[in-house]
Formats: sequence, C-alpha cells, structure tokens
Amino acid sequence: MQSNTDGLKKEISACRLCAARFAATRTAHEPRPVVWFEPSARILIAGQAPGMRVHQSGRPFTDSSGDRLREWLGLSEDCFYDTSRVAIVPMAFCFPGYDAKTADLPPPRICGATWHDRVISALGKLRLRILVGGHAHRYHLGTRLGVTELVKGWRSLPEGVFALPHPSWRNTAWLKRNPWFEAELLPVLRARVKEQMQHD
Ligand code: SF4
Repeated sequence: MQSNTDGLKKEISACRLCAARFAATRTAHEPRPVVWFEPSARILIAGQAPGMRVHQSGRPFTDSSGDRLREWLGLSEDCFYDTSRVAIVPMAFCFPGYDAKTADLPPPRICGATWHDRVISALGKLRLRILVGGHAHRYHLGTRLGVTELVKGWRSLPEGVFALPHPSWRNTAWLKRNPWFEAELLPVLRARVKEQMQHD
C-alpha cells in the first residue's frame, strides 16, 4: 500500500509549477525535482536548490559543495545518501537556472510555499536540523540576521538546530575569515550527527 509520504513524493516529482519560469532562463531547462526523504529520517539537511550538476544527476549534492558538506558533517557518501536516516530538503527541489553572472538564481519562493510545510510535517522523527545557507536560515528560523552573525551565534540556536554557510567554493574566503567555524562548530556538529546516525 502506498504511504502518505510516497504520495507526497510522487506529487513533488510531478510538479511543473516553474516550467515557464525555467523555460525563460538561459538554460531553458525543464523542472526536474530532486526528491530525497523518507519519514524515518532523524537528520534534516535543509539546503538551497540543486545546481546544474545535481539537476543532471538527479541526486542531491553530487558536486563539490556536497564533498565539502560531507566533510563538515563527517559522513561518508553511503551514510549521507542513506534516506532512512538523512532527509535532504532544499528550499526549491529544482535547479532554478543562472543569473547574468552565472551564479545560481535564488530558489523560487513558490516551491517552499507549496511543498515545504507538508514535507517537514511528514518527517516526524527529526532530531537534528542542519540549515545550509541564508534561504534555509530565513525559512526555518524566521531570522533576519545575516549568515555570519547567525552562524557565529550557533550556541544560542534552538536545541538540535545548526545553521551553516553554504558549502559552495564561493564561500572559501568566508571560511578563511572565520576559523572558529571549523575549529569550534564543526567538531560539535560532527558529534551530533554521529549520535543520530547510530540511533536505531
Ligand atoms: S522548483 Fe518546486 S515548485 Fe518549482 S517546479 Fe520544481 S518542485 Fe515545482
């Protein structure tokens, strides 16, 4: 019998709400939602939106951002892609296209507004929420703080919530300017991830 979550995943996979918007971008691509969650997940990775490589692979974080994120979390690829434990839910499920400077466009708001609350309520076993990048910070925490200020205050976030910068190469200079992130925050994050991965 099909579960409610299976039905929701099928609905998202079939979503074409942004077809006209994507057709008008330089890549003129079609929606390809990358749907990656199961109701048993204890860890949520709330990201931004797939990039072009993920759009092509159909698997989240199959790019250099993913390599860096896995390193931050202390997870092998096998563990990272274990949907029974880790749900990867971006603010938009599809690649949004490029802007004039070939940076990725922001995730279309309609995606979060249409799907996000339904997905999060389907994930009733979450114990750890890892919010990656400003779009996820704003949505999940309702914050107006900038990324640096929010991440720097990581000890005062709600229990079980970590806010991270986006692991893109574009943030390499940020990492150099903020060495406390790797020295202080990441060891605590890795320990929390390990704890949840060991749970039955
Ligand atoms: S980005 Fe979200 S709302 Fe837009 S087509 Fe993809 S799944 Fe649908």
